[in-house]
Amino acid sequence: MKSLALHLLFLAVTCSVGYAQKKNETEVPDKPKLVLGIVVDQMRYDFLTRYWDKYGDDGFKKLVHQCVLCRQLYYNYVPTYTGPGHASIYTGTSPAMHGIVGNHWYVKENRSTSYCTQDDKTESIGTTSPAGKQSPRNLFSSTITDQLQLTNLGDSKVIGIALKDRGAILPAGNMADAAYWYDDACRCWISSSFYMKELPEWVKRFNDKKYPDQYLSGEWNTLYPIQQYTESLQDDNPYETIVKGKTSPTFPYNLKEIAQAYQTSSILRSTPFGNSLTTLFAIDAVISEKMGKGKSTDMLCVSFSSTDYVGHSFGPYSVESEDCYLRLDRDLATMITVIEKYLGKENVLFFLTADHGVSDVPAHLKDIKIPAGYINEAVLMNKAKSFCAQHFGDSLVLNYINNQFYLDDTKINALKQDRCELQKKLALHLIGTESVAYAYTYCEMLQQSYVHFPAEYIQHGFHPLRSGDVMLCFKPNYMEFEQRGTTHGEPFSYDAHVPLIWYGWKVKSGNVIDQRYEITDIAVTLANMLQVMEPTGATGKVIKGIIKQEKSV
Ligand code: ZN
Ligand code: ZN
Repeated sequence: MKSLALHLLFLAVTCSVGYAQKKNETEVPDKPKLVLGIVVDQMRYDFLTRYWDKYGDDGFKKLVHQCVLCRQLYYNYVPTYTGPGHASIYTGTSPAMHGIVGNHWYVKENRSTSYCTQDDKTESIGTTSPAGKQSPRNLFSSTITDQLQLTNLGDSKVIGIALKDRGAILPAGNMADAAYWYDDACRCWISSSFYMKELPEWVKRFNDKKYPDQYLSGEWNTLYPIQQYTESLQDDNPYETIVKGKTSPTFPYNLKEIAQAYQTSSILRSTPFGNSLTTLFAIDAVISEKMGKGKSTDMLCVSFSSTDYVGHSFGPYSVESEDCYLRLDRDLATMITVIEKYLGKENVLFFLTADHGVSDVPAHLKDIKIPAGYINEAVLMNKAKSFCAQHFGDSLVLNYINNQFYLDDTKINALKQDRCELQKKLALHLIGTESVAYAYTYCEMLQQSYVHFPAEYIQHGFHPLRSGDVMLCFKPNYMEFEQRGTTHGEPFSYDAHVPLIWYGWKVKSGNVIDQRYEITDIAVTLANMLQVMEPTGATGKVIKGIIKQEKSV
């Protein structure tokens, strides 16, 4: 941590020297050949600084050495989940406009829950499982990737890649050439008929190499001797999930035994090797698709999902999480080195951010006297239902998801109740139950304009066509979860504060930006850099001071 601060100071001092030498630099093209967007799933800001001394020279450190680092980038809405996160990064707006109000949300008309990229009109490509029946059709806004395609009349090549479907599909946008995600059933990369009729030959060849089988027949042990993981708690502690087939949450993890115990190969996702597989596939995509070699700027959107799975199981102070980031650092180094060699550094614009942060394990915080705790959603549900039954003659609650209650409007109308009044009464009643600190209603979200926390965050996450009737905000570090492991989704800084790094092409070397920016500013900044129109729903602003010469047109 200390050495990172010193390093950034050094960069600030030497920045002017860099400017003096500008004339000797390689000619930088007007537009990058390739934009590589990297999203690290669940990378809270402090994962950059806490493990800094352990990172190698060519991964995170290389990005920070020669980049513009935005140290104050925040999500500005709830819920801070993967679907909304990826959508907001690439649309330059919040769920209030792009409509991805959760990974799942409740649909009253169907009396069922809908998944953010679910599309039953499509077919799986590359697998017999239904895992490919997906598309970005739930997005209400275009993405920066769409705008690039639109400007270049479809001549740009745009591809999204992630183990998680939503991490690949939402960034790649509506006009994407392809999005690929991982199917546990076939242990292979798959896609949807939304993009293609069959997998390209290079994807088939990659799948035929059966890397997942190799990973799953081995074990996960620490990259360095375990006593060197001094940034984390001791390996055996009461805050980490004990996986099936083991008696303690400790290294080494025999992946063959664990996969057998769970009777699924999905365990690969919860190891750093899921990120390694993503890296190999992303590099293959660039080279096989000749990305960056055409006339127009291409864009590859890569999301590293394994950090999230590992983080949920073991928490931010685990040796497992630390090892996952140290290994990701190596994977990043490989990817950056290969792509720079292939296209030249001046031709590639990289940016790296995260789709949300993560809470510390509440049980850990409680043990060290920091306020935290657990919520029982069944208690909340009973309280809401019994209040409605007592006061309005019917329990009225259809569903509880994303900290929101969805009520039965048909019954409310039949009971001749005023919908807004009823919502308000229920909201007020719930404050104080199970650590509910604030409660707002659908009608308030439509009628008011909030500028204070957390109401503003709830409003940015509210869409009238998809959100519930009563929205709750709990006290910080309270969650419905097991006592071991952790999650995210709240408006607080631990879930909202993420890194943002710009690197390559015309990016200034070694600048630090400490002005507060929001996640919705990334796509708008990209639009400005690439001189394309902003995504259709964009509400963000341009982050100033990233590239060397601003366009004069
Ligand atoms: Zn995520
Ligand atoms: Zn997660």
